[in-house]
Amino acid sequence: MHCTVVGAGVLGLSSALALAERGHDVEVLDKAQPGAGASGKAAGVVSTMTWHDDEFALVQETRGRLGELISLAMIEGSPAARSVWKPYDSITVGAGPSLRALDEMHDRLERLGEEPERFDFREAAAQFPGVRFAPGEEVLVAQEDGAVEPNDLVQLLLGRLENEGVSVRSGVEVRARPDAEAVVVAGGAWTPGLLSAWGHPVAAKAFRTQLASLAWPESAGAATEAPMVHDLTRGFYARPESEGSMLAGDGTQLRSFDPDAYDEAADPDFVASIAERVVQRFDAGAEARLRRGWAGLCVGTPDRRALCGAVPDADGLWVLSGDNGFGVMRCLALGERLADAVDGSPDAALDPARFRGVGDDWPLREGFGWDA
Ligand SMILES: Cc1cc2nc3c(=O)[nH]c(=O)nc-3n(C[C@H](O)[C@H](O)[C@H](O)COP(=O)(O)OP(=O)(O)OC[C@H]3O[C@@H](n4cnc5c(N)ncnc54)[C@H](O)[C@@H]3O)c2cc1C
Repeated sequence: MHCTVVGAGVLGLSSALALAERGHDVEVLDKAQPGAGASGKAAGVVSTMTWHDDEFALVQETRGRLGELISLAMIEGSPAARSVWKPYDSITVGAGPSLRALDEMHDRLERLGEEPERFDFREAAAQFPGVRFAPGEEVLVAQEDGAVEPNDLVQLLLGRLENEGVSVRSGVEVRARPDAEAVVVAGGAWTPGLLSAWGHPVAAKAFRTQLASLAWPESAGAATEAPMVHDLTRGFYARPESEGSMLAGDGTQLRSFDPDAYDEAADPDFVASIAERVVQRFDAGAEARLRRGWAGLCVGTPDRRALCGAVPDADGLWVLSGDNGFGVMRCLALGERLADAVDGSPDAALDPARFRGVGDDWPLREGFGWDA
């Protein structure tokens, strides 16, 4: 089948790869460059500390597929293969009301075959020097988490697509519906507008989220020795970026944004509040300095799960979006699910038909479910 994929972010590229591997004739079109949307702005955290069993499975499958991609790219001598993935200790910190979320994640990890560790604040302080824990806090440690460098992931995917004979064209803005047997819209934050313009609105809204890169003081040792931290107490996450810097994010604004008219710079308020939280959580935080801050758009859905499958009442039109802020860590599995749907086996839990008739009157919620 001839398939046109609109959008060369991680979701579009992953679905193009899955379709091509199944023998479809695939092309990818992007109005900018591959990775120019949310994908190139992501923190790249990959964590199985999710809010739902099926989400856990999508992350785990993506991690497995990523390992295969890295092996193939190593054989081909791709430089991105060496830098795309870094494993990190990964801790989720909770206290008081957020302990319930921590308990749920803990149960899920054990039930689904991982071996998480759980510490009280004293044990955690001994295990993770440089990280500050307050009395009453508890810590869940995942064993298999890490981070991808999103631009390296885009390069790996482009390399695989080239091998599969898929053409990826940059600078091609799709306005009218392309003439292909299957059109897959994976346009990130532009997806809801594009599908509405074609007469097929879907239950998805773009929301804004922010990230800061902080220069880590040399006196604290390499930032890469710090764990990734999901801080349920203070509502932010941080992950080492390189020897000398740390990414810290949150600043999520749960209202709709226009992808063609939003501020891509971080808000001063966000920078000030993330700095405060980093100081409270890390010994080195007080000496950390802002390198840069930025914002990007993610796509939320009413149930915080992806939109992956046929667009209702539109022959030959498919959608892969609704990342709810965590599309990198699930991209390769979602690409497979999209290709399953095109081949006639949709995943009912992700099928856009579940929102038929839902309209626009639903609230955006934090994607990771830390509030669950
Ligand atoms: C600050 C920030 C931090 C994040 N951190 C993480 C994280 O730690 N872990 C994680 O898993 N996820 C994270 N995310 C989320 C992640 O970035 C997204 O889930 C993911 O990138 C979505 O990929 P996508 O392919 O759907 O969209 P995009 O990457 O936005 O790609 C969409 C593409 O479609 C193209 N396009 C749109 N309209 C058209 C058109 N009409 N014609 C042609 N091309 C078009 C765009 O140019 C763009 O390249 C983060 C996001 C942000 C903003």
